Amino acid sequence: MAGAKKKKTKADDVEVKALFLGPKSENHEYFKNTLNFLMDEHMHWRRDFHPEDAEISSAHEMRGEKYQETLDRTTKVLTELSAKLKMTSMPWFSARYLGHMNSDTLMVANLAYMATLLYNPNNVAYEASTATTPMEIEAGKDMATMLGFDPKTSWGHITTDGSIANYEGLWMARNLKSFPLAVKRVKPSLVKGMNDWQLLNMPVKKALDLVDKVRKAGCFDAVRNETVRGTGVGEGKLGVVLVPQSKHYSWVKAADVLGIGNRNFVEVQVDGHFRMDMGALKKAIDSHVAKKIPIMAVVAVVGTTEEGAVDRIAEIAKLRDAYQRKGISFYFHVDAAYGGYSRALFLDEKSRFMKYDELKRRLFSDKVFVGNHSYPSKEIYESYKAIPAADSITIDPHKMGYIPYAAGGIAIKDRRILDLISYFAAYVFEAGKSSPSMLGSYILEGSKAGATAAAVWAAHRVVPLNITGYGEIVGRSIEGAQMFTRALEATKSLKVGNKEFMVQPLVATPDFNIICMAFNEKGNVNLEKMNALNSKIYSESSYASGPVYRNDWITSNTELSKEDYGDAPKEFVKRLGIPAKEWDRVGRVRVLRVCMLNPFISNFQNHEQLWKGFLEILKRKIGEATSRP
Ligand SMILES: *Cc1c(COP(=O)(O)O)cnc(C)c1O
Repeated sequence: MAGAKKKKTKADDVEVKALFLGPKSENHEYFKNTLNFLMDEHMHWRRDFHPEDAEISSAHEMRGEKYQETLDRTTKVLTELSAKLKMTSMPWFSARYLGHMNSDTLMVANLAYMATLLYNPNNVAYEASTATTPMEIEAGKDMATMLGFDPKTSWGHITTDGSIANYEGLWMARNLKSFPLAVKRVKPSLVKGMNDWQLLNMPVKKALDLVDKVRKAGCFDAVRNETVRGTGVGEGKLGVVLVPQSKHYSWVKAADVLGIGNRNFVEVQVDGHFRMDMGALKKAIDSHVAKKIPIMAVVAVVGTTEEGAVDRIAEIAKLRDAYQRKGISFYFHVDAAYGGYSRALFLDEKSRFMKYDELKRRLFSDKVFVGNHSYPSKEIYESYKAIPAADSITIDPHKMGYIPYAAGGIAIKDRRILDLISYFAAYVFEAGKSSPSMLGSYILEGSKAGATAAAVWAAHRVVPLNITGYGEIVGRSIEGAQMFTRALEATKSLKVGNKEFMVQPLVATPDFNIICMAFNEKGNVNLEKMNALNSKIYSESSYASGPVYRNDWITSNTELSKEDYGDAPKEFVKRLGIPAKEWDRVGRVRVLRVCMLNPFISNFQNHEQLWKGFLEILKRKIGEATSRP
């Protein structure tokens, strides 16, 4: 058409329903045929390797008694395994499962994993994984790019999980912090005129430039031996790590195993949205600096494990820059283990972070959202935009990447930092290649499944890491959470027998796709009684009350305590009719927790019926919870 705008090509746009096996195994034919094909491929691969070599079993031998008995025993055990799996496993695929960070996983990832498993590659060394080490590096690059890092200077790889990624992040932060001091001991001329405080506050980029200078001066190994990895951590010398109260518990373990010590691990109060409180963060930095205690690292979370909260990344980045101008520097790690993949929602086909209005428009024109939501707020948008301000980022493919376990990941802004954690095969980015030949030298783990890397790599090739692919899947999960929250808010009363109950979401507008909620009997002002009710509802809605296969709704639960969260949950408890002084007395509230990863709930044709169905189930659960002793 003359004058008409060129239509956007949507070649990559995916049909979400064609990506998963489906709650009723709708895609079983495709899945089985393809699996069969991949297994045939593998069998041929074996046979075609030196076809002249003889077989080890003859047909005659295979009919033998012992041979058959061995196969029969194998079948028997596998049948038993299958029975056990079917009896007690969690039905992640179903809309009735609304609990932990689980959902159906991508067909392509499952098939890629199963196909690769038979080749059994080990990504610790290139030699043992010539096919899958490059996939790990490529998938790492995909993640780094999605998170906003420059693919030319950044690096990323697959870890077993988010915990390991967090350990790696803190490992790098720790070693980097000690590097300038080590330079002073080995080659003082390179840091002439700087005192220890200044060396401990060297900005990340400057410290990495110093690594280059040290290498040029020919004393890199000597300096590195003088860093914390040679000397040990020493009592608080390298300062403190600041984390929000909402942190994942892997950080506590990280502070322990990396020798930082729990007492140098400082938790910052969260606000009513369960985001790190900016005033409290500033105060924590100031109070340590006043005592001449350096800040080793600040950790922020995108998608907290319990609430799905998104810390104010843009504000924290600004604060970091402002302190840097005042001579106070720290490493900045973003723990986006849960929320990392949701940055795809904000990217267009060219991995460009969209303008706010453009994004809002496309959420509807691309039919990511079917309803009208205020998501994302400007604030959330800015937080996602600022993620690449971090020095490193944790991201879990086995959460919002819809990949089977175990697949975590980390992306690093400036890959020069790897030299500070590597062993033997030092800095081996071979000329012209972006993959090191020996991953095991740069990472925390040793032997690791190449099948995982293959699964993530293959998923990234089918599902674009932008609004047309992962963005759409994640967007649907966010919309599901928004709808669930609205449905809870609209529920003024749940009548069960002659009793009346109320329900409240933890926050009115969840930052992401997790909904926490609690029920209370109307008129009850006793927090312990309310907690007991929600504990019972949980046990009626989980493995605790019997085989989940017969359960009609399965969820997860958690406890928000004063010890962990200060008074952040106080307002929520008040909304449920519990007086403030009761919160002060009991100091803990039990909540049901729904991680809405399922991408098929928001696109359900008849929403009203869906939510009515959920509310009926919830009523039944309250009934069961209150009728049983
Ligand atoms: C899940 C999670 C982790 C840990 O990841 P695993 O893969 O379970 O080890 C770390 N941080 C956050 C915010 C998480 O949600």
